[in-house]
Amino acid sequence: MNFYVMTLFPEMIEQGMHTSITGRAMEKGLLSLKTVNIRDYSVTGNGRIDDYPYGGGAGMVMQAEPIYRAYEDLLRQTRAQDKIRLVYLTPQGRVFHQAMAQELAQEENLAFLCGHYEGVDERVLEAIVTDYVSIGDYVLTGGELPAMVMMDAISRMVPGVLSNSDSGVSESFSDGLLEYPQYSRPELWRGCPVPPVLLSGHHGNVDRWRHEQSLLRTLRNRPDLLKKESLNKEDLKYLWKLLEEEMDNGLSAEEISVLKNLLGISLKLSD
Ligand code: SAM
Repeated sequence: MNFYVMTLFPEMIEQGMHTSITGRAMEKGLLSLKTVNIRDYSVTGNGRIDDYPYGGGAGMVMQAEPIYRAYEDLLRQTRAQDKIRLVYLTPQGRVFHQAMAQELAQEENLAFLCGHYEGVDERVLEAIVTDYVSIGDYVLTGGELPAMVMMDAISRMVPGVLSNSDSGVSESFSDGLLEYPQYSRPELWRGCPVPPVLLSGHHGNVDRWRHEQSLLRTLRNRPDLLKKESLNKEDLKYLWKLLEEEMDNGLSAEEISVLKNLLGISLKLSD
């Protein structure tokens, strides 16, 4: 997969992406990265690419023409004839999530435009952007970190990038639940043992325990992810047990209400 990034800070992107797993994937030729410095396309010739906003207001706006020229150059490099899928990182976009990463990983070429200052002249966005994406409801100084967040998550979906092809499949969000807790050596660490089921060698019991831990963790941390339609009979049984043993499990009022809601609805459906 080939990533292209239009930015004012190419060194930030290069350094971040050439590290660890994504760096190794680039060495192996599974990923490639080309950064385009928007400043090189300044129309004033002195590297300036921003100007005051029409209508007044705080801050500066990135001008349309340098970005458009950078984009034209980028198209030539991708040999894409007319258009490439281009993500503009913006707090006003759709919020990035795992399914979006999975979908974008199907592209052969994917480009990103990193904004800065108050943002980018709307006219060039309308001309070239295909997707508007935010990484969360907060405002950062630039689009470089969001672009790296997206490229990192997308890279994990590219075949061969993760050494164990399973590890991307069973992670949080892959089945709509958060991942179960993980343990490694030693068996006893500062008086805390590894849960005995993980040492039992019984794969069926390990799988069941992990799935139940995923349900519990999702209920605790992200109850909004629990959807009644994706729960099977075994899941419902486990959730009933949790509710029955609410005192032992130390469930909060909110967790109890989520459970009651899920189980109540499921009962009505099965009537
Ligand atoms: N004035 C803009 C607004 O209110 O929507 C915010 C501009 S922000 C200071 C500068 C740049 O950072 C944006 O153009 C965008 O590329 C990037 N950025 C900031 N927060 C972001 C977020 N949550 N997700 C994606 N990109 C973000």
